[in-house]
Amino acid sequence: MHGYGGAEQLVYESCEPPAITEPDEVIVKLKAASLNHIDIWNRMGATGIAVAMPHILGADGAGVVVETGPKVENVKVGGAVCLYPPTGCGQCEFCRTERDFMCIRLRVLGERLEGTYAQYVKLPAQNCFAIPSGYSFHEAAAFPLVFITLWRMVITNAALKPGETMLIIGIGGGVASATLQAAKKIGARVIVTSGSDEKIERAKALGADHGVNHHKENFVTAVQALTDKRGVEVVLDCVGGEVWRQSLASLARGGRLVTCGATAGGAPQDDISLIVSRQLKIHGSTLGSRREFLQLISFLNATKIKPIIDRVFPLSEAADAQRYVEAAKQFGKVVLEMPD
Ligand SMILES: [Zn+2]
Repeated sequence: MHGYGGAEQLVYESCEPPAITEPDEVIVKLKAASLNHIDIWNRMGATGIAVAMPHILGADGAGVVVETGPKVENVKVGGAVCLYPPTGCGQCEFCRTERDFMCIRLRVLGERLEGTYAQYVKLPAQNCFAIPSGYSFHEAAAFPLVFITLWRMVITNAALKPGETMLIIGIGGGVASATLQAAKKIGARVIVTSGSDEKIERAKALGADHGVNHHKENFVTAVQALTDKRGVEVVLDCVGGEVWRQSLASLARGGRLVTCGATAGGAPQDDISLIVSRQLKIHGSTLGSRREFLQLISFLNATKIKPIIDRVFPLSEAADAQRYVEAAKQFGKVVLEMPD
């Protein structure tokens, strides 16, 4: 990335490979990376984080360890790994209590650290994990960010239980489709919304119990009809904007709303009297801990869930891959494949 702006800022070119500078670092030769909305926000300069240009985007990746620093013990050269994206300073109160994803000096791959839209990436060895069993490199690059995000939101914060009803706003993106898969494995009933009948059909093929096309009907009314006027226990709303109030109105008494962003606007209108009278809980989160990442990998190994991959682009077409995601055409993840 040569500057902040549109996808034209992404240039496919050669640069110096990364070199180990700390004893706990490794170099990974990447086989695949995957796209996330955060890449686009970083490219647009919307995160307020200033980085030196040119900069390499990309929070998600998987590949093979090719070099290790002298203090590295958890991975070996030749090991196939997936990458846990955030790293902390090791010093602040959050890092010292196993919450380095909440570090006040947080660094995330592709954000403050050089990312994964590349053949090689350098990162702390502690961020490398064995890939889930049976996963291809494409799948291993597609799951970390969206699955750790949903794990913290839905498992840790909302504590979704078997038999509960969950509403997923805007099925199609990586977090939404991954949440649908996990919620069904847990034994929840799942209602999804989309403006696309095709995406609703794909969600039903993945196990969604009901789909509501929000261009054709009001989803609050639809949810009330589907739940005996009770509402749902959990809503995943990473859309925000005009949708936020409707998401709150879809919740049952004591319901939980979880969010990891607001693609349609970050300053929605709240309904505080509803939050109070229905005793609602709103949980915001981003990423998750290493402990949660390990729990997640165990869950993936046990359930055999794999991330939904919509399309694979060669690394040289990363700009087109971002345009494709910006147009919201995908269902699931968009992957970049590295040249050898
Ligand atoms: Zn810290």
